[in-house]
Amino acid sequence: MPVLTETAIRELAAFRSSGPPVVSCYLDVDGRRQVRPQDYEHRLDALLREASASDPKASPADLEVIATYVRNGFDRSGVRGLAMFSCVADRFWQVLSLPVPVSNSLMVNSSPAVEPLEHLVHELEPLGVLLVDRQRARMFVHQFGELIERAELFEELPREYDSRDEASRGSREREQHHTDALVAQHLRHSAEVAFRLHRDRGFAHLTVGATDDTYAATVAVLHPYLRERLTHRIHLGVGATDAEIRAAALAIERRIEQEKEAALVARLRDSVGAHGRGVVGLVDTIAALNDRRVGTLLVSDGFVESGWRCPSCGSLARKGPTCRVDGAEMIHHDDIVHEVVDMALRTGCAVEVCVGNADLDVLGRIGALLRY
Ligand SMILES: [Zn+2]
Repeated sequence: MPVLTETAIRELAAFRSSGPPVVSCYLDVDGRRQVRPQDYEHRLDALLREASASDPKASPADLEVIATYVRNGFDRSGVRGLAMFSCVADRFWQVLSLPVPVSNSLMVNSSPAVEPLEHLVHELEPLGVLLVDRQRARMFVHQFGELIERAELFEELPREYDSRDEASRGSREREQHHTDALVAQHLRHSAEVAFRLHRDRGFAHLTVGATDDTYAATVAVLHPYLRERLTHRIHLGVGATDAEIRAAALAIERRIEQEKEAALVARLRDSVGAHGRGVVGLVDTIAALNDRRVGTLLVSDGFVESGWRCPSCGSLARKGPTCRVDGAEMIHHDDIVHEVVDMALRTGCAVEVCVGNADLDVLGRIGALLRY
């Protein structure tokens, strides 16, 4: 299974056909909801029927290749989404098996439609999860909706301290002091377990689940590398089930991604105007991209607009048909936003596809932070 990375996405985006369009098809094959292959085959059939009825650019040969691949059966282990790209006329065929479900869609463009992948790759960063109490610790690495790594630690506190009823006051204090020292040591060991898993597997963020007191004491002894990665607290105890941990981890990952998007959109809003380090709206974004000034492109998920692309110099335009750069006759595209994302990826820009960000929608659903 090719790994979904920024590089893989850029390589895919770099393919441009010699003329015939590329069909991109995303299919949700998540076995948790679609137990039998017929379940997603029906959905694929509907997508293909719709494409051949409504999009004259969709070549029957490409649709057939996609249908055949899915019907012939593929290894479903660990696969919850498929991304398929076909341009039979140019002998181009790529499949990515995704560890997360995707929404069903079919697009016909001059190059592979990689926007959905661009969004996924950010959500797939591994998250470290440390659940800890006074004598137990469980550490996980969550990625692709699964717990891919785990470690446990149990350091039992001496029971007799709790149950012994008659002891001198001085001795009780000593015992309490001893217990506190054992707990502190256990939390240090727990932090070491977390650090070892980080060293071995790596994760972008760490979440800790514990009672208030234990939480504060644990955070205080985390390695500085881990403290930097500390994100929202997870509200689960050490006894949580795998399903509870997966669900809570996914929710934290979504929140991290939304916050990152919100911060970028806020930066965009602040940088528009006065010093001109940001542009918003399709027309200005296209102009900045044509001038190679874009550093980060921000686009609302699902934003589609028509426009034009010059076959001779590659410039994009909202209005056609004549290229402003070289006067050539441009080609009309139903989805120029796809071309914008594609060009951004090919020219080394960062691309952030924002989901449900109302602030970006207000700004025109697209914008760019400029390099200069
Ligand atoms: Zn041109």
